Amino acid sequence: MQPISSLPYNTGVAERDFKYYIFDWDDNILHMPTRIHLEHLEDDGTWRPVKVSTSLFAVVRTDGRYRLPEKGGRKEAFIEFQDTPQDRGRQFLLDTAAALRRISEGEKPGPSFETMRRTLVEGRVFAIVTARGHASSTLRRAVRLFIDTVLTPEERETMMRNLRGYRVWLDKVTEFGTDDEELEYYLSMCRFHAVTNADFWDQMESDPDFGTRLLATPSEQRPEMAKKFAIHDFVVHVFHMLERTGGFVRPVAIGFSDDDLGNVRAVADYVTSELSSRFPGIKFVVYDTSDATLSRGRKVVVAGQLNLPGF
Ligand SMILES: [Mg+2]
Repeated sequence: MQPISSLPYNTGVAERDFKYYIFDWDDNILHMPTRIHLEHLEDDGTWRPVKVSTSLFAVVRTDGRYRLPEKGGRKEAFIEFQDTPQDRGRQFLLDTAAALRRISEGEKPGPSFETMRRTLVEGRVFAIVTARGHASSTLRRAVRLFIDTVLTPEERETMMRNLRGYRVWLDKVTEFGTDDEELEYYLSMCRFHAVTNADFWDQMESDPDFGTRLLATPSEQRPEMAKKFAIHDFVVHVFHMLERTGGFVRPVAIGFSDDDLGNVRAVADYVTSELSSRFPGIKFVVYDTSDATLSRGRKVVVAGQLNLPGF
């Protein structure tokens, strides 16, 4: 531990607004090389195994010439989107590293890539919410890889000054840990939810409200319910964090970005029908990033009383 007088920290964070983000991962932050295993109907009437990208899947999922594998179904189709007992998330990290490498070689990143970078540099709390099935710790390691790979040394130093600033202001610390400890503390305040993960599913089933709702939800709508639970969990987390630190002194906004129109609609509906009335002090913003030609996506829903410039 080092006394706070020995390291630079940004006292300016105490003047900032409270903006938090929830990011979908695939094709929102990064275009990953992970493939979905399907079968394609050939001209001769046979079904041939094919592997498609997540962006192509979004297009062909309603195309009758594609189907889930006859053997194994949905589980087999998304086999690459899980941690295996053998690899324990290694494949996801390799895929993340490959996606980051292609960006460094000039490929256009996902529409929320720059927002993710800015969020990290500013040291703001965020959540990753994805339909994948990885362990939470796997997603967290991938974000750590993003920090270590994408941020320049100057950006990293700015991030550390901001993180230390928040520690002094909100946690009233008198000593700082090492950079690594402070970075890990920051990531522990963030949320990493892969909503088809078994542990996440257990968490949802044991929640008094969502557990009951889940029982009444048809199986095809359960993934959407899981995304809502993940968002709800983060909003409650932010709410308690601000309550604990006396942070409700200025506008609070939470943004959600996703490239899947179905998710965008489900979340927008959830915000307007439930979240905005349960948390009237929070402004909610939903970004539809399905149109890759728009740099930050399309802002589709704004709920709440407050108006923040630039959000
Ligand atoms: Mg996506």
